[in-house]
Amino acid sequence: MIRPRRGGAGVLAREISPDVYCLGPWGRVQTDVYFVCSGSSWVLIDAGWAKDGPRIERAAESLFGAGARPAAILLTHCHPDHAGAALQLARAWDCAVWMHPAELPFATGDFAGMRAYAGPLDRTVVLPLMRAMGSRRREAMLARSSLGEVARTFEPGAEVPGLPGWECIPTPGHTPGHVSYFRPRDRVLISGDALMTLKVNTVSGLLLQQPGLSGPPWYTTWSQRAARASIGTLARLEPTVLAGGHGTPMTDPGTAARLRAFAGLAGPV
Ligand SMILES: [Zn+2]
Repeated sequence: MIRPRRGGAGVLAREISPDVYCLGPWGRVQTDVYFVCSGSSWVLIDAGWAKDGPRIERAAESLFGAGARPAAILLTHCHPDHAGAALQLARAWDCAVWMHPAELPFATGDFAGMRAYAGPLDRTVVLPLMRAMGSRRREAMLARSSLGEVARTFEPGAEVPGLPGWECIPTPGHTPGHVSYFRPRDRVLISGDALMTLKVNTVSGLLLQQPGLSGPPWYTTWSQRAARASIGTLARLEPTVLAGGHGTPMTDPGTAARLRAFAGLAGPV
């Protein structure tokens, strides 16, 4: 049984539910990552931007002690604000980075796969820029950000690597292989960008960092339709704790009802 330090001076992540620690939110887009313990091990869920590696390592050390290593790094999806420091941390901790199979093109810098799964911003700005770079420069850039040898995939129906007692819920839309992590015992939900607690879809919300339920940002979302269906899937889980990829996690007793209303579902059954 692993015994992290619960709060007190120098502990950088906050316990939002038994064995679930939130580091964040920080920065302009209010990034969060999560440390989750289960049995004798712990995992990191999402890995922030590339520059966030040292911050995450310090927080892990403050919880689990110097030299502690996770069983796995799990990703909700493979965007640069969630997988940015994954390679650096996986090498430091000598562990693998796990994701849904459909995220692999993003993780390995497969340009053709990225084109197939592009969101509006990718289609109008990112991909044309990458095409204009020419294939040699583009391949070199993609190789630098690739997770390469540390990337692993797992099927959502299978056991979550390093995290017994949790389920992987497919929540496609923002990306095709986006997943959320759910602990049925007490209905704690870690939802990545499928559902977040920061208003990212209004200009004022983003500029003023307004709290509130939101689906993924439309400009980086592959399929709005699938994203809406995924919000319904998550609302039906009736989570008691909603811990998204951006914003302050919701832990108050009204969370499930607020989410049902947000998803357009009828009141609690
Ligand atoms: Zn994000």
